[in-house]
Amino acid sequence: MTFKPSATPVGPVSVHDVIVAGRGAIGCAAALGLAQAGLRVALAGPPVAAEPTPPDDWDARIYALSPASRALLERLRVWQALDADRVAAVRDMRIYPNAGPSAPELHFDAESAQTEALAFTLENRNLMQALDRGLGFAGVQVFGQRVVAVDPFADRIEVVLDDGARLSARLLVAADGAQSPVRGLLGMTADAFEYPQRAVVANFETAHLPSDCAYQWFGDHGILALLPLPGQRCSIVWSAPPALADELMALDPPALAARVSQVSQYALGELRATEPARCHRLHRVIAEHMAGPRAVLLGDAAHVVHPLAGQGMNLGLGDVGELLAVITAREPFRDLGERLLLRRYERARREPVLAMKWTTDGLQRLFDPEQQPGLPPLLQPLRAVRELGWQAVAATGWLRRRLIRHAVS
Ligand SMILES: Cc1cc2nc3c(=O)[nH]c(=O)nc-3n(C[C@H](O)[C@H](O)[C@H](O)COP(=O)(O)OP(=O)(O)OC[C@H]3O[C@@H](n4cnc5c(N)ncnc54)[C@H](O)[C@@H]3O)c2cc1C
Repeated sequence: MTFKPSATPVGPVSVHDVIVAGRGAIGCAAALGLAQAGLRVALAGPPVAAEPTPPDDWDARIYALSPASRALLERLRVWQALDADRVAAVRDMRIYPNAGPSAPELHFDAESAQTEALAFTLENRNLMQALDRGLGFAGVQVFGQRVVAVDPFADRIEVVLDDGARLSARLLVAADGAQSPVRGLLGMTADAFEYPQRAVVANFETAHLPSDCAYQWFGDHGILALLPLPGQRCSIVWSAPPALADELMALDPPALAARVSQVSQYALGELRATEPARCHRLHRVIAEHMAGPRAVLLGDAAHVVHPLAGQGMNLGLGDVGELLAVITAREPFRDLGERLLLRRYERARREPVLAMKWTTDGLQRLFDPEQQPGLPPLLQPLRAVRELGWQAVAATGWLRRRLIRHAVS
């Protein structure tokens, strides 16, 4: 890796133990956990733009967080600060494949997995407000500017912000999102790929009573996921081929609601759109390394996966949990930015990140109708394997329970 040194003149330097770059949920959670562990933390980056919606409306950015993510947020005392009326538990999950006419639905439920819930849905706004309050209590020093240059030295690392301020610390945590300018400044490379799909996200009111079931339909339409929100509301992520995504975005809200109701087989009855839909390009980004010179990558800066399994934020919170574990368990003589320490973090995260990459990528390819005609002849039997595999999972309680345990941990 070749890193780009700063050409900015040296000014007064503000000294910390750790600098966290990026004020998304992952950067804020990392900064909070490190400050609660007794470290002097600087958090740098522009605040996450507030949703331009009245507070009674629902944020278009909804996450399904796993019980493991909830446990971490509880340890950080963030979960307790959420507006609980705007959090819903998912206790049931039904998945419908396009794996042949005889392929049954796949059903997971919290009770047979012996867990309170399979996931919890909440808004980005709710999460960010709780994190912000925690950062204030924990005494994290917040800087509203972007990191524009990085200088790693033998005994510390310095960053320059876009107003010229300089910060110095033993360790730099880059949680600055999928594009991660800091990853580039550190000379760390990533393998990036754009999926032939776009995600249309929107919230709806439902005709049926409140539900605790999440649904997913694989088909010629792409992948439609429907998540319950509190009350008679739900949220969708529709990963559609680009032409269909454009078509959906061109529909007026009632027409989009009618289309989603139809593809979701009226599982929650007729839907009514509550906020305008949004569209996201979908990427897979995997950094070659998660540890660099006195620096680590966390969250989307390290890995971006397809949202079909709703796991990006969960994976990032897993990074936060592991970094906190490695740092708090370090030997008293160990420097925070020491390569050996950072390698422990990198090694521990390698397997979960690669497993999630292969799972989401594999499902996206296997069930993407656009890719089927292009499958080389040797891979054609995959269609049969897909159908057989699906039937096996649907029929085998033991296998299903193992899959759930993997998803909730
Ligand atoms: C459609 C869709 C649905 C999803 N649903 C789910 C779900 O249900 N469950 C789930 O777990 N995940 C989900 N995800 C994934 C999840 O949204 C991301 O993984 C998560 O938001 C990443 O958070 P982050 O803090 O790493 O990055 P970001 O939220 O991108 O934050 C990065 C921050 O860094 C800042 N920044 C950029 N450059 C700099 C710089 N130079 N200096 C300082 N700061 C900088 C940015 O302004 C930004 O505030 C979904 C994703 C998509 C696209």
